[in-house]
Amino acid sequence: EALQMHFSMKGGAFSRRKGVIKAVDGVNFKIYPNETFGLVGESGCGKTTVGRAILKAIQPTAGKVIYHSKKGEKIDFVTMSNKELRPYRQEVQMIFQDPYSSLSPRMTVQEILEEPLRLAGHTDKKYLYDQAVDMIQQVGLRSSHLMRYPHAFSGGQRQRIGIARALITRPRFIVADEAVSALDVSVQAQILEILAELKDKLDLSFLFISHDLSVVKYLCDRVGVMYLGRIVEVAPTESLFSNPLHPYTEALMHAIPDINEREIRGDILAGEIPDAANPPSGCAFHNRCKYAKDKCKTDVPALREFTDTIEGQPILRQSACHFVEEIYNK
Ligand code: SF4
Repeated sequence: EALQMHFSMKGGAFSRRKGVIKAVDGVNFKIYPNETFGLVGESGCGKTTVGRAILKAIQPTAGKVIYHSKKGEKIDFVTMSNKELRPYRQEVQMIFQDPYSSLSPRMTVQEILEEPLRLAGHTDKKYLYDQAVDMIQQVGLRSSHLMRYPHAFSGGQRQRIGIARALITRPRFIVADEAVSALDVSVQAQILEILAELKDKLDLSFLFISHDLSVVKYLCDRVGVMYLGRIVEVAPTESLFSNPLHPYTEALMHAIPDINEREIRGDILAGEIPDAANPPSGCAFHNRCKYAKDKCKTDVPALREFTDTIEGQPILRQSACHFVEEIYNK
Protein backbone atom coordinates (compact mmCIF):
# COMPACT_ATOMS: atom_id res chain seq x y z
CA GLU A 1 0.00 0.00 0.00
CA ALA A 2 1.70 3.15 -1.23
CA LEU A 3 -0.51 5.63 0.56
CA GLN A 4 0.32 6.69 4.05
CA MET A 5 -1.71 9.79 4.83
CA HIS A 6 -4.75 10.99 2.96
CA PHE A 7 -6.08 14.29 4.09
CA SER A 8 -9.31 15.93 3.07
CA MET A 9 -11.24 18.62 4.82
CA LYS A 10 -14.26 20.74 4.13
CA GLY A 11 -15.99 23.65 5.75
CA GLY A 12 -13.46 25.01 8.18
CA ALA A 13 -12.19 23.92 11.55
CA PHE A 14 -13.22 24.27 15.13
CA SER A 15 -10.91 25.75 17.70
CA ARG A 16 -11.89 25.63 21.38
CA ARG A 17 -10.46 29.07 21.90
CA LYS A 18 -11.81 30.83 18.81
CA GLY A 19 -14.94 28.85 17.92
CA VAL A 20 -15.47 28.02 14.27
CA ILE A 21 -12.72 29.41 12.09
CA LYS A 22 -13.57 29.11 8.44
CA ALA A 23 -10.03 28.90 7.27
CA VAL A 24 -10.02 25.86 5.00
CA ASP A 25 -12.37 24.25 2.53
CA GLY A 26 -11.89 21.45 0.04
CA VAL A 27 -8.31 20.76 1.05
CA ASN A 28 -7.33 17.38 -0.32
CA PHE A 29 -3.93 15.78 -0.66
CA LYS A 30 -2.01 12.58 -0.09
CA ILE A 31 1.37 12.11 1.49
CA TYR A 32 3.31 9.00 0.56
CA PRO A 33 5.91 7.04 2.54
CA ASN A 34 9.31 8.72 2.73
CA GLU A 35 7.93 11.84 1.08
CA THR A 36 8.22 15.46 2.15
CA PHE A 37 5.07 17.25 1.13
CA GLY A 38 5.31 21.03 1.35
CA LEU A 39 2.33 23.22 2.02
CA VAL A 40 2.96 26.84 1.07
CA GLY A 41 0.97 30.03 1.03
CA GLU A 42 0.70 33.51 2.50
CA SER A 43 -0.12 33.86 6.18
CA GLY A 44 -3.85 33.37 6.75
CA CYS A 45 -4.20 30.93 3.83
CA GLY A 46 -5.07 28.09 6.20
CA LYS A 47 -1.90 26.01 6.02
CA THR A 48 -1.36 26.05 9.77
CA THR A 49 -5.01 25.09 10.32
CA VAL A 50 -4.42 22.04 8.15
CA GLY A 51 -1.36 20.98 10.17
CA ARG A 52 -3.14 21.48 13.47
CA ALA A 53 -6.23 19.62 12.28
CA ILE A 54 -4.14 16.59 11.33
CA LEU A 55 -2.87 16.40 14.89
CA LYS A 56 -6.33 17.11 16.29
CA ALA A 57 -5.14 20.29 17.99
CA ILE A 58 -8.24 21.72 16.32
CA GLN A 59 -11.26 19.83 15.09
CA PRO A 60 -12.32 20.06 11.43
CA THR A 61 -16.03 20.77 11.07
CA ALA A 62 -16.14 18.13 8.34
CA GLY A 63 -13.67 15.93 6.51
CA LYS A 64 -11.27 13.09 7.02
CA VAL A 65 -7.66 12.53 7.92
CA ILE A 66 -7.01 8.97 6.83
CA TYR A 67 -3.84 7.53 8.25
CA HIS A 68 -2.40 4.15 7.26
CA SER A 69 -0.88 2.87 10.47
CA LYS A 70 2.25 0.74 10.92
CA LYS A 71 0.02 -2.29 11.33
CA GLY A 72 -1.75 -1.50 8.08
CA GLU A 73 -5.05 -0.22 9.52
CA LYS A 74 -6.71 2.74 7.81
CA ILE A 75 -7.94 5.04 10.53
CA ASP A 76 -9.66 8.42 10.46
CA PHE A 77 -8.16 10.83 12.99
CA VAL A 78 -11.16 13.14 12.74
CA THR A 79 -13.77 10.70 13.99
CA MET A 80 -11.59 8.97 16.59
CA SER A 81 -11.59 10.10 20.19
CA ASN A 82 -8.33 11.21 21.77
CA LYS A 83 -8.31 7.99 23.78
CA GLU A 84 -8.71 5.85 20.67
CA LEU A 85 -5.93 7.81 19.03
CA ARG A 86 -3.45 7.30 21.85
CA PRO A 87 -1.80 4.16 20.42
CA TYR A 88 -1.08 6.04 17.18
CA ARG A 89 0.29 9.19 18.79
CA GLN A 90 3.82 7.83 18.71
CA GLU A 91 3.61 7.38 14.96
CA VAL A 92 2.66 10.99 14.25
CA GLN A 93 4.69 13.80 15.79
CA MET A 94 5.11 17.54 15.49
CA ILE A 95 8.13 19.82 15.19
CA PHE A 96 7.22 23.25 16.44
CA GLN A 97 8.06 26.62 14.98
CA ASP A 98 9.55 28.18 18.04
CA PRO A 99 12.31 26.18 19.71
CA TYR A 100 12.46 28.75 22.52
CA SER A 101 8.96 28.26 23.84
CA SER A 102 8.40 24.60 23.02
CA LEU A 103 11.01 23.23 25.46
CA SER A 104 10.28 23.34 29.16
CA PRO A 105 12.95 25.51 30.86
CA ARG A 106 12.76 23.45 34.04
CA MET A 107 13.58 20.10 32.47
CA THR A 108 17.00 18.82 31.44
CA VAL A 109 17.43 17.78 27.83
CA GLN A 110 17.43 14.16 29.01
CA GLU A 111 14.06 14.63 30.73
CA ILE A 112 12.70 16.43 27.67
CA LEU A 113 13.75 13.61 25.36
CA GLU A 114 12.58 10.84 27.67
CA GLU A 115 9.15 12.35 28.31
CA PRO A 116 7.43 11.14 25.10
CA LEU A 117 8.70 7.62 25.79
CA ARG A 118 7.45 7.76 29.39
CA LEU A 119 4.06 8.93 28.13
CA ALA A 120 4.06 5.92 25.82
CA GLY A 121 4.50 3.67 28.87
CA HIS A 122 8.27 3.04 28.89
CA THR A 123 9.78 2.91 32.39
CA ASP A 124 13.10 1.09 32.02
CA LYS A 125 15.72 3.71 32.92
CA LYS A 126 18.51 2.21 30.88
CA TYR A 127 16.28 1.97 27.82
CA LEU A 128 15.16 5.58 28.24
CA TYR A 129 18.73 6.83 28.63
CA ASP A 130 20.04 4.80 25.70
CA GLN A 131 17.29 6.15 23.47
CA ALA A 132 18.02 9.73 24.56
CA VAL A 133 21.75 9.29 23.85
CA ASP A 134 21.06 7.77 20.44
CA MET A 135 18.64 10.52 19.45
CA ILE A 136 20.77 13.43 20.66
CA GLN A 137 23.66 12.08 18.60
CA GLN A 138 21.46 11.62 15.54
CA VAL A 139 20.73 15.35 15.56
CA GLY A 140 24.43 16.20 15.84
CA LEU A 141 24.70 16.99 19.57
CA ARG A 142 26.68 15.12 22.26
CA SER A 143 25.50 12.90 25.08
CA SER A 144 27.03 15.37 27.57
CA HIS A 145 24.38 17.86 26.42
CA LEU A 146 21.68 15.70 28.02
CA MET A 147 22.46 17.04 31.51
CA ARG A 148 21.93 20.68 30.54
CA TYR A 149 18.83 22.87 30.48
CA PRO A 150 17.42 24.46 27.30
CA HIS A 151 18.65 27.98 28.16
CA ALA A 152 22.23 26.79 27.71
CA PHE A 153 21.68 26.24 23.99
CA SER A 154 21.51 28.40 20.86
CA GLY A 155 18.33 28.60 18.75
CA GLY A 156 19.65 26.06 16.26
CA GLN A 157 20.68 23.65 19.02
CA ARG A 158 17.26 23.98 20.63
CA GLN A 159 15.61 23.13 17.35
CA ARG A 160 17.84 20.05 17.15
CA ILE A 161 16.59 19.08 20.61
CA GLY A 162 13.00 19.68 19.42
CA ILE A 163 13.65 17.37 16.46
CA ALA A 164 15.20 14.72 18.72
CA ARG A 165 12.13 14.90 20.98
CA ALA A 166 9.79 14.49 18.01
CA LEU A 167 11.73 11.52 16.65
CA ILE A 168 12.45 9.60 19.84
CA THR A 169 9.22 7.60 19.64
CA ARG A 170 10.28 6.48 16.15
CA PRO A 171 7.34 8.12 14.35
CA ARG A 172 6.61 7.63 10.66
CA PHE A 173 4.95 10.93 10.01
CA ILE A 174 6.03 14.41 11.09
CA VAL A 175 4.16 17.69 10.84
CA ALA A 176 6.67 20.55 10.81
CA ASP A 177 5.04 23.98 10.88
CA GLU A 178 7.48 26.78 10.02
CA ALA A 179 10.14 24.62 11.66
CA VAL A 180 13.05 26.81 10.60
CA SER A 181 11.43 30.26 10.27
CA ALA A 182 12.64 31.49 13.65
CA LEU A 183 16.27 30.70 12.85
CA ASP A 184 19.07 32.57 11.07
CA VAL A 185 19.48 31.60 7.43
CA SER A 186 22.83 29.82 8.01
CA VAL A 187 21.34 27.83 10.89
CA GLN A 188 18.24 27.08 8.80
CA ALA A 189 20.45 25.34 6.26
CA GLN A 190 21.94 23.07 8.94
CA ILE A 191 18.52 22.13 10.31
CA LEU A 192 17.16 21.42 6.83
CA GLU A 193 20.14 19.19 6.17
CA ILE A 194 19.47 17.25 9.37
CA LEU A 195 15.80 16.85 8.46
CA ALA A 196 16.65 15.62 4.96
CA GLU A 197 19.21 13.17 6.34
CA LEU A 198 16.93 11.80 9.06
CA LYS A 199 14.04 11.50 6.63
CA ASP A 200 15.97 8.91 4.63
CA LYS A 201 17.71 7.26 7.56
CA LEU A 202 14.54 6.79 9.63
CA ASP A 203 12.16 6.43 6.68
CA LEU A 204 9.99 9.40 7.62
CA SER A 205 7.26 11.29 5.81
CA PHE A 206 6.85 15.00 6.38
CA LEU A 207 4.14 17.58 6.04
CA PHE A 208 6.34 20.66 5.85
CA ILE A 209 4.37 23.87 6.25
CA SER A 210 6.16 27.08 5.27
CA HIS A 211 5.76 30.53 3.81
CA ASP A 212 9.36 30.42 2.57
CA LEU A 213 9.63 29.18 -1.00
CA SER A 214 13.41 28.70 -0.91
CA VAL A 215 13.11 26.33 2.06
CA VAL A 216 10.33 24.39 0.37
CA LYS A 217 12.26 24.16 -2.86
CA TYR A 218 15.27 22.76 -1.04
CA LEU A 219 13.49 20.15 1.07
CA CYS A 220 10.21 19.05 -0.46
CA ASP A 221 9.45 16.31 -2.99
CA ARG A 222 6.00 17.66 -3.82
CA VAL A 223 4.31 20.93 -3.00
CA GLY A 224 0.73 22.02 -2.42
CA VAL A 225 0.04 25.74 -2.87
CA MET A 226 -2.76 27.19 -0.74
CA TYR A 227 -4.70 30.36 -1.36
CA LEU A 228 -7.42 31.60 0.99
CA GLY A 229 -8.27 28.23 2.49
CA ARG A 230 -8.02 26.09 -0.65
CA ILE A 231 -5.33 24.09 -2.39
CA VAL A 232 -4.91 25.64 -5.81
CA GLU A 233 -2.04 23.56 -7.14
CA VAL A 234 -0.16 20.36 -6.30
CA ALA A 235 2.95 19.28 -8.21
CA PRO A 236 6.39 17.72 -7.82
CA THR A 237 8.69 20.51 -6.64
CA GLU A 238 10.75 20.76 -9.83
CA SER A 239 7.68 21.01 -12.06
CA LEU A 240 5.96 23.51 -9.80
CA PHE A 241 8.89 25.90 -9.81
CA SER A 242 9.81 25.51 -13.48
CA ASN A 243 6.35 25.25 -14.95
CA PRO A 244 3.47 26.40 -12.71
CA LEU A 245 -0.04 25.42 -13.79
CA HIS A 246 -2.02 27.92 -11.75
CA PRO A 247 -2.09 31.71 -12.12
CA TYR A 248 -1.52 32.22 -8.38
CA THR A 249 1.60 30.02 -8.42
CA GLU A 250 2.73 31.75 -11.60
CA ALA A 251 2.29 35.16 -9.97
CA LEU A 252 4.28 34.03 -6.94
CA MET A 253 7.14 32.83 -9.15
CA HIS A 254 7.20 36.12 -11.04
CA ALA A 255 6.98 38.20 -7.89
CA ILE A 256 9.90 36.34 -6.37
CA PRO A 257 12.61 36.37 -9.04
CA ASP A 258 15.39 35.42 -6.64
CA ILE A 259 14.17 32.35 -4.85
CA ASN A 260 16.87 32.58 -2.21
CA GLU A 261 15.79 36.00 -1.04
CA ARG A 262 12.06 36.02 -0.74
CA GLU A 263 9.19 34.75 1.28
CA ILE A 264 5.55 34.69 0.31
CA ARG A 265 3.93 37.90 1.40
CA GLY A 266 0.48 39.16 0.52
CA ASP A 267 1.77 42.50 -0.69
CA ILE A 268 4.03 41.11 -3.39
CA LEU A 269 1.10 40.45 -5.70
CA ALA A 270 -1.04 43.05 -7.39
CA GLY A 271 -4.63 43.64 -6.33
CA GLU A 272 -6.38 43.90 -3.00
CA ILE A 273 -5.74 41.03 -0.57
CA PRO A 274 -9.18 39.65 0.31
CA ASP A 275 -10.24 38.87 3.86
CA ALA A 276 -9.41 35.19 4.52
CA ALA A 277 -12.49 34.80 6.72
CA ASN A 278 -14.70 36.02 3.90
CA PRO A 279 -13.10 34.95 0.62
CA PRO A 280 -14.40 36.15 -2.77
CA SER A 281 -17.04 34.07 -4.57
CA GLY A 282 -16.11 31.64 -7.34
CA CYS A 283 -12.35 31.39 -7.69
CA ALA A 284 -11.02 33.23 -4.63
CA PHE A 285 -8.10 34.52 -6.71
CA HIS A 286 -10.31 36.23 -9.31
CA ASN A 287 -9.79 39.80 -8.09
CA ARG A 288 -6.01 39.48 -8.51
CA CYS A 289 -5.83 37.16 -11.51
CA LYS A 290 -4.77 38.59 -14.87
CA TYR A 291 -6.60 35.78 -16.72
CA ALA A 292 -9.95 36.08 -14.87
CA LYS A 293 -13.21 35.85 -16.87
CA ASP A 294 -16.85 36.09 -15.83
CA LYS A 295 -17.09 32.41 -14.93
CA CYS A 296 -14.31 32.89 -12.35
CA LYS A 297 -16.53 35.21 -10.30
CA THR A 298 -19.30 32.65 -9.90
CA ASP A 299 -17.93 29.10 -10.22
CA VAL A 300 -15.52 27.53 -7.74
CA PRO A 301 -12.86 25.70 -9.79
CA ALA A 302 -12.31 22.04 -8.88
CA LEU A 303 -8.83 20.66 -8.32
CA ARG A 304 -8.27 18.75 -11.58
CA GLU A 305 -5.55 16.34 -12.62
CA PHE A 306 -3.04 16.90 -15.42
CA THR A 307 -0.10 14.86 -16.64
CA ASP A 308 3.35 16.18 -17.50
CA THR A 309 6.12 14.07 -18.90
CA ILE A 310 9.56 14.49 -17.42
CA GLU A 311 12.41 12.38 -18.82
CA GLY A 312 9.85 10.01 -20.31
CA GLN A 313 8.06 9.50 -17.00
CA PRO A 314 4.45 10.64 -16.54
CA ILE A 315 4.10 13.11 -13.66
CA LEU A 316 0.74 13.75 -12.03
CA ARG A 317 -0.15 17.32 -11.16
CA GLN A 318 -3.28 19.11 -10.01
CA SER A 319 -4.57 22.61 -10.56
CA ALA A 320 -7.75 24.40 -9.50
CA CYS A 321 -8.23 26.83 -12.36
CA HIS A 322 -11.04 26.81 -14.95
CA PHE A 323 -8.69 27.72 -17.78
CA VAL A 324 -5.55 25.61 -17.34
CA GLU A 325 -5.91 24.22 -20.88
CA GLU A 326 -6.14 27.67 -22.45
CA ILE A 327 -3.54 29.46 -20.36
CA TYR A 328 -0.91 26.74 -20.22
CA ASN A 329 -1.65 24.82 -23.45
CA LYS A 330 -2.57 21.65 -21.58
FE1 SF4 B 1 -7.71 33.04 -12.64
FE2 SF4 B 1 -10.15 32.20 -13.25
FE3 SF4 B 1 -8.14 30.46 -13.11
FE4 SF4 B 1 -9.13 31.59 -10.90
S1 SF4 B 1 -10.19 30.21 -12.26
S2 SF4 B 1 -7.01 31.32 -11.38
S3 SF4 B 1 -9.59 33.64 -11.62
S4 SF4 B 1 -8.37 32.15 -14.56
